[in-house]
This record gives sequence, structure tokens and C-alpha cells, in this order.
Amino acid sequence: MTDRVSLFEVSMRDGLQNEPIVVPTADKIAHLHRLLAAGLTDIEVTSFVRADRIPALADAADVVAALPTDTGARFWALVPNPVGLDRAFSSGIRHICTFLSSSETHNAKNVNRTVRESVADLRRVMGTALDEGMSVRAYVSTVFGCPYEGYVAPEKVRDLVLTMLDVGAQEVALGDTTGIGTPGQVTALVKLLVDSGAPIERLALHTHDTHGMAAANVYAAFNAGIRRFDGSVAGIGGCPYAPGAAGNAATEDLVYLFRGLGVETGVDLDRLAIAGHEMARLLGRELPGRVHRATLGAAVPARKSA
Ligand code: MG
Repeated sequence: MTDRVSLFEVSMRDGLQNEPIVVPTADKIAHLHRLLAAGLTDIEVTSFVRADRIPALADAADVVAALPTDTGARFWALVPNPVGLDRAFSSGIRHICTFLSSSETHNAKNVNRTVRESVADLRRVMGTALDEGMSVRAYVSTVFGCPYEGYVAPEKVRDLVLTMLDVGAQEVALGDTTGIGTPGQVTALVKLLVDSGAPIERLALHTHDTHGMAAANVYAAFNAGIRRFDGSVAGIGGCPYAPGAAGNAATEDLVYLFRGLGVETGVDLDRLAIAGHEMARLLGRELPGRVHRATLGAAVPARKSA
């Protein structure tokens, strides 16, 4: 029996939000079509943040207006607050992501709220979205440590994850926002969450590769039972409010990892590699993903049978 994971692609949001150049809307949509051609079916396409804070995503409504309608894929938009939700709803998008941090300082830098205030805000935002029939994903950030505070208590992460599930998030993404975590932490946190009653099929892992641990952390989470992973083509990404954070786990790396394990992702690595190479051309610089770099000018190595 073939095991299966599903991937959640964040290059258009977590990726582009951190780039100094603004990618034109038409180029974003061309990128989206390459992602779809590769077989990705959950794609975070933008964020309804204030345009003056993240100019790279100022075209959020235009991106949503240009989304194809006949793909069967789910398109998601990040929503930071009630104003963002209003804009998202007006745009017509049907799947939203909310976020809060398990660290007070990171949460304050990100949304100028205490964690408790954010929980109250998200109850309203998520409640309204669910009433409108939207689906909701919640990111809980800095779950393995904070760039400002260092240690984050796993029990605090657990309480926030359980709260987000209770409020109605279909899925909670555990965010290693600065790529600080190691596989032992991943294993321990997933166990704590499952032992506390969190349904594992509603948990996802969102990694960054700052310390080179992203693939190892994904593998640890897979062995702990997680089947949902965030990736960003060619490893672009970062957090504007997390100094020193490097890019997300590269989607190509995740596909390569799971292909080697005989685990189905539904994603064609050759086609995905094209999306990464085109993204490098759009951004005009070398991108960090390891499989991305390994496939520059070369065919993706054929799958070896065991
Ligand atoms: Mg991130």
C-alpha cells in the first residue's frame, strides 16, 4: 500500500512577501499555473495585509480575481485581522489562513497584539469566516523557539493549537517560523499534541531551513504521523518580523524526500523544477532550494527502485 502526504504550497505568499522586488501580478499568475501543472492542489496565493507593510502583496485582490476557476485546487489567502477578512471576502476567495505566534514578542512585532488579544481577534475572524462557509487554516508560529525570546514552552504551543482547533480551524500548521527546531523537538511536540487529543490529520508542519534542518524535521514529523507539509518552490521565503530567518522548506526537496521513501505526493518533480527555475529568473537571483540547485541545467535524477 502506498502511503500518501499532501503538500501546501506557500511560495506566492510566504515566499514573495520577503522579496525586495514586487513581482507583477501576471507573473504571479503564470507561476501559479506552473504550480498547478506540477500537480499542487493547495496553494496559498497571497495575503490581505496592509499594502504599506508588505508592498509585494499589495495586489492581493487582483491575484484572487485572476485565479483559474476550473482546476479543482484550493486557493488560500492569509488574513491578519478583521479588515483583512473583509477584503478577502470581497475578493471572493473561499479559503483563508489566520496566524498567531506562541511567543509574545514575535506576536507583538507581527500584529501588535498580545497572544491573548490575538486569540480573541481570531475567534471573531474565524467565526465570521466559518459562518460565511469559508474554510480556515490557522498557523501557530514560533513553535520551536522565538527569535526574540528563545525558548517557547511546548505546553503554550499545545494550548494555542487546541484552542485553534476548538474555534474551528480545519487545520493547524505548526510554524517553525525561523527554522530553529530540530527533529527531537518535532517528535516531542507532535507526541504532546496527539496525547492531548489533537487529531493528527488536522495538523501540518511549516518549516524553514535556516539551520539546514527542514528536511530532517519533515521526516521526523512524517514518522510521528503528520501527513501534511508546507513547502515553497526553490526554498524562497522568510518572515519580515523574524530577523535571520531563511527560506521555507523547498517544495522540490519535500517531493524528492517523499519520492525516495515511496510516498505519494501527487506532484511531478520535473514540472515543479521548471517552476523553481522560472522563479529564479523572475527574482533575478540564485535561490536556495537544494534540489532546485541540483536540477539547474540537469534532468531530475530518475527514481531508483528499492
Ligand atoms: Mg513561514
